[in-house]
Amino acid sequence: TLVLGIESSCDETGVGLVRDGVLLGEALSSSMAEHLRFGGVVPEIAARAHLDALVPTVRAALREGGLALSDIDAVAVTSGPGLASSLQVGLAAAKAYAVSLGVPLLGVHHLAGHVAADTLVHGPLPERSIALVVSGGHTSLLLLGDLARDPIVHLGDTADDAAGEAFDKVARLLGLGYPGGPAVQRAAERGDPAAIRFPRPSAGTYGFSFSGLKTAVARWIERHDGPLPIADLAASFQEAAVDVLTAKAVAACAAHEVGTLVIAGGVAANARLRAVAEARCAAAGITLRVPPPRLCTDNGAMIAAVGSMVAAAGAPWAPMGLAADPSAPLIAALLQ
Ligand code: ATP
Ligand code: MG
Ligand code: FE
Repeated sequence: TLVLGIESSCDETGVGLVRDGVLLGEALSSSMAEHLRFGGVVPEIAARAHLDALVPTVRAALREGGLALSDIDAVAVTSGPGLASSLQVGLAAAKAYAVSLGVPLLGVHHLAGHVAADTLVHGPLPERSIALVVSGGHTSLLLLGDLARDPIVHLGDTADDAAGEAFDKVARLLGLGYPGGPAVQRAAERGDPAAIRFPRPSAGTYGFSFSGLKTAVARWIERHDGPLPIADLAASFQEAAVDVLTAKAVAACAAHEVGTLVIAGGVAANARLRAVAEARCAAAGITLRVPPPRLCTDNGAMIAAVGSMVAAAGAPWAPMGLAADPSAPLIAALLQ
């Protein structure tokens, strides 16, 4: 079964083609450059860019895979969460492809996509696993069981800012530009992670809080005279964020006797997070799974990956009336 996956929840138009869990082609178009002067994603501009990019991006993915439209057996599309107007463009395109090709439609939860991206490189997930989803809008520790049947258990979420949001806000404080994650990582490479001891804020055993950490960086900058040690600030902030994320993820695995940790979402592209998670998982005897960086940030392949899993599980397809759900919670089984 060849699944066409379409992702348009934010500023990335992503298309992926997955056949039985194998990624055959992908293409990505981003309107990020158009939002730079506004300091954040402008929904109207993003939606218009999706409209322009969708068909060319589908064609590019098909070309990369040496495939034709007529090869597609099903269309999977992000139905939420995300920006309403951006989601609607992807949904409309997905429905048009599904109807014109006479194939089924599937609505995919964006975060299920982030988690599923890993299966494209490391194969199916085991019967039980814990997922740390760290992205621009979410930070959650999830207990996953049978992906077709078991509801997702939120062991912890963020009480305020998401991890990616914290990287973006700290990047802004340091004058490093947008998106902040990659910029902070680059600046941190030249810095000392132990230069400044920032707090490791927490919210309950497995809950997170990043707004206090961001404020601690802001206060430090306010109190400081002279030129800012940008590299040390970036490295020290990154160390605090990575420390708390990995410590809780590993502790959750131990407490729930789960042998596999998956890290997903844009912040999973962070080199320091990957390195510390690798070391701590190895020490705790936990198998760590993290997709390659290009599959951590938003892409269409991860949506096609869920579609492919749904097809394999024989789960029901979505009605053509499927609507965008900008704030869809992730609670149902991953493949429902
Ligand atoms: P969500 O998935 O919650 O709806 P989103 O789709 O906007 O939000 P993603 O595309 O998954 O988020 O991730 C984008 C976020 O990841 C941004 O906040 C960005 O700064 C962060 N990010 C990307 N690369 C890195 C990196 N190397 N280090 C740290 N953060 C990063
Ligand atoms: Mg993005
Ligand atoms: Fe995302």
